[in-house]
Amino acid sequence: MKRIYLDYAATTPTHPEVVKAMLPYFTDAFGNPSSIYSHGQEAKGALEEVRDKVAAFINAGSDEVVFTSGGTEADNFAIKGVAYANEGKGNHIITSSIEHHAVIETCRFLERRGFEITYLPVDEYGLVDPADVKAAITDKTILISVMHANNEMGTIEPIAEIGKIAQEAGIYFHTDAVQTVGHIPVDVNELGVNLLSMSAHKLCGPKGVGALYIRKGTKLISFMHGGEQERKRRASTENIPGVVGFGKAVELAQQEMSEETQRLTYLRDQLIKGLLERIDRTRLNGHPLKRLPNNVNVSIDYVEGESMVLNLDLEGICVSTGSACSSSSLEPSHVLLAMGLLHEQAHGSLRFSLGKWTSEEEIGRVLEVLPQIVAKLRAMSPLLKSQR
Ligand code: PLP
Repeated sequence: MKRIYLDYAATTPTHPEVVKAMLPYFTDAFGNPSSIYSHGQEAKGALEEVRDKVAAFINAGSDEVVFTSGGTEADNFAIKGVAYANEGKGNHIITSSIEHHAVIETCRFLERRGFEITYLPVDEYGLVDPADVKAAITDKTILISVMHANNEMGTIEPIAEIGKIAQEAGIYFHTDAVQTVGHIPVDVNELGVNLLSMSAHKLCGPKGVGALYIRKGTKLISFMHGGEQERKRRASTENIPGVVGFGKAVELAQQEMSEETQRLTYLRDQLIKGLLERIDRTRLNGHPLKRLPNNVNVSIDYVEGESMVLNLDLEGICVSTGSACSSSSLEPSHVLLAMGLLHEQAHGSLRFSLGKWTSEEEIGRVLEVLPQIVAKLRAMSPLLKSQR
């Protein structure tokens, strides 16, 4: 059976051209970029070339990009880095209630150590209101962290508007752009951010590599101590094959993004329309328009998300309920609950995330199979029986 992979927000298949670009850096060009002989300098050259490429992609300067082990590290670095470097100024951080765990758990960690955190609410579409951000600012606020687009329901947040508010108030602003870099245009100056997190494996690059954009002049401390790599901002021998793969993924995204956006938006809308038409008591989660071109998130009444995922898996279709990171937990998604969904609606949610190799036939197959699965599960559902 040919697998249909519709979980690109969890991770993407590594593009064959990315793998090809990485391979020489495991074998012939394996040098350590800190070594001064030519073998090391070859690796150093590759590292700096990718830094230029990633920086240009988000309209930043090359010396403003620090490579990390992924999005989680970039989020931790940004938030803890600013928190501990600016403790003398204040201890208040503003974030939203729909952030990825990499942000939420970092904030909770700081909360246990005396920082004050405001978790802003969102509306029914998952949008943060910039007016709420403004109202939450106190003379102790040192950082605002709001994600660019949500990984579960795909809503794109008003980052540029929040950026203006942060700038006017003289407060550092971080955005987690893990789900947007390579998918929609990202320009650090248009967004008005001081810090921005990225991860390669969400854009057909390898896992375990990402970057943090740090605007020149931003005061933050490092928390990886050791050698002098990354201009003393992050010690550890650089993951050269990973970084090279990240660079290739960025290059491909740059070439293909506008066409891919059109193609995926069409497929996304076909899927949304088909699901709402073919399965009664289904609702779309997230904003209908301000959403990622590859995200579909629906709640289907009277069925459990896990049961649908397992039944779709038997048909060779990979999707998720909530985010992959929390899919092993039975807790309903904090994102959907923050948007006002009832526990049972959040439990009955499915996330489809489309990507490079998603075809119209695959969407057609989902639309054929899922209504049958839902009908079968509803026939056995105690939830539905109790309604009758
Ligand atoms: N932030 C968001 C919005 C994500 O979707 C993810 C991954 O799912 C991360 C952060 C973590 O990135 P990584 O897996 O590279 O650590």
